[in-house]
Amino acid sequence: MRRYRKRKWRNKHHLVPRSRGGNSHYRNLLLIDGELHIDWHRVFKNRTLDEVISLLERVRRAKASEGVP
Ligand SMILES: [Zn+2]
Repeated sequence: MRRYRKRKWRNKHHLVPRSRGGNSHYRNLLLIDGELHIDWHRVFKNRTLDEVISLLERVRRAKASEGVP
């Protein structure tokens, strides 16, 4: 692996994606590790932060109703 690939880099993640009307105001931006950013979009696609949170809450409620700790 080349050296530059090991270097940590930071990305600006848009909490409301630009493609969905999100702006580049600092309140809509999250500085995030580049590799984590790739993983975020692999898992959560183009969801807004609120959509990600409600998705995770639905998962938690579903698991709680199964009686799983
Ligand atoms: Zn992003």
